[in-house]
Amino acid sequence: MEQKRALPELSKEELEELLATWGQPRYRADQIWRWLYVSLASDLDDMRNLPAALRRQLGGQLAVTSVAPVSTLHSVDGRTEKVLLQLADGQTVETVLMDYDGRRTVCVSSQVGCAVRCAFCATGLGGWMRDLSAGEIVEQVLYYARLCRGGSGTAPGQGISNIVYMGMGEPFLNYDAVRRSIAVLNDPEGFNLGARRVTISTAGIVPGIERLAEEGLPVGLAVSLHAPSDELRDRLVPINRKYPLGQLIAACRGYTEVTRRRVTLEYALIDGVNDSPAEADALARLLRGQLCHVNLIPVNPVPELPYRPSPHERVVAFENRLRERGVNATLRVSRGADIQAGCGQLRSAPRECETIVNT
Ligand code: SAH
Ligand code: SF4
Repeated sequence: MEQKRALPELSKEELEELLATWGQPRYRADQIWRWLYVSLASDLDDMRNLPAALRRQLGGQLAVTSVAPVSTLHSVDGRTEKVLLQLADGQTVETVLMDYDGRRTVCVSSQVGCAVRCAFCATGLGGWMRDLSAGEIVEQVLYYARLCRGGSGTAPGQGISNIVYMGMGEPFLNYDAVRRSIAVLNDPEGFNLGARRVTISTAGIVPGIERLAEEGLPVGLAVSLHAPSDELRDRLVPINRKYPLGQLIAACRGYTEVTRRRVTLEYALIDGVNDSPAEADALARLLRGQLCHVNLIPVNPVPELPYRPSPHERVVAFENRLRERGVNATLRVSRGADIQAGCGQLRSAPRECETIVNT
C-alpha cells in the first residue's frame, strides 16, 4: 500500500493550494498551519475548530506525522537525549536534543547514512541510503518540540531555541529539502524559529556554500575542516579531493562577505593525526584574514575506527598556539558521547551494546 504524504511535507502555499482545490476558504489553511506549528498537534482530531468532514478528507489523503520513535537514550547528566526515529519506509535516523546554557538545540539528520565517508565518522561507515524529505527533517524538530512543550515559560512552538543540521548526512547534498525545511520552520505564523537560530554544518560542498550565500539566508554556516593541508584533508574528509582547501576557503570568504557572518570551522583533534604544533601553525596560516571561529573538539571515538582523541595537554597546546597566532578558537565540550550522541557518532540502526529504553 502506498504511504500517505505527511502534512509537514507541504509548504504553506502548497497547503493553501490543496485546500483551495477542495473548495475550502483560505483561513482553513492558516488554522491547520497553526495546529501543526504553534499548537504542535499530533492528531487530526486535536484540530477542533475544523469541521469533521474536512478532518476526514484530510485524513483520507494525508497523515499528521510519518516518523515514529523506536527508542531513546539519555546521557548521564540528563541534558542530552537521542531518539531513533523510524521513517515511513522502515529506514531509521537519529535526532539529538541538547539542553545546555539556556538553549534547547535539536540536532537533525538530513540523510539516511552519508556518501562522504569521512575517515572518523560513524554515519559514513554504512554509506548513503537515501535523502530525507523536507517533511522528515521538520518532523525531527516537531518530535522534540512536542516533548519540550510548555518548558520554562516558553510559548508553544518555542520550546526549541536552536536547530543545527549536524546529525546524519551531508545537508548540502540534499540542499532543496534542507532549504524547504528551514522555510517551514522559519514561518512567523507557524513555528517561528528565526534563520539566525539555525546552523548548517557541511563537510565542504563548495556549490552548497555558494548557493547559501547567493540566497542571502542568514543561517549560520559551520564547515568541517579537520586538517590544514590538502594532503591530510584528502584522507580525512575525502570530498576534499573534489573541493580542495583553496576553493573551500574562498567559498567561506564569499559567504562572509554576503552575510557578514563569521564561519565556524570544526576541527576534531585526533591523537597523532592532525594535532601537532606544525599543524596548528599551518591552520593559522590558512585562515589568515578570514572572519571565522575555530571550534576544537577532541574526536569522539567510534568503535570500528582506529582514531582516538588527542590528550588534553595537546588539545590545550593546540588551542593556545592558534590564539597566539590571532585565530579565534575555543575548545568545545563533547555532549552526549556516553550515549553515542556526540558529533559523528550517529548511525541508522541501534547497536547491540546499547540499552534501549522503549518509549
Ligand atoms: N555532514 C556534515 C554534518 C554532520 S557531521 C558535516 O560533516 O559537517 C557533524 C560534525 O561532526 C562535523 O563537523 C563532522 O566533521 C563531525 N564529526 C564526524 N565524526 C566525528 C567524530 N568521530 N568526532 C568528532 N566530530 C566528528
Ligand atoms: Fe558525512 Fe558529515 Fe559524517 Fe563526513 S562527518 S561522513 S560528511 S555525516
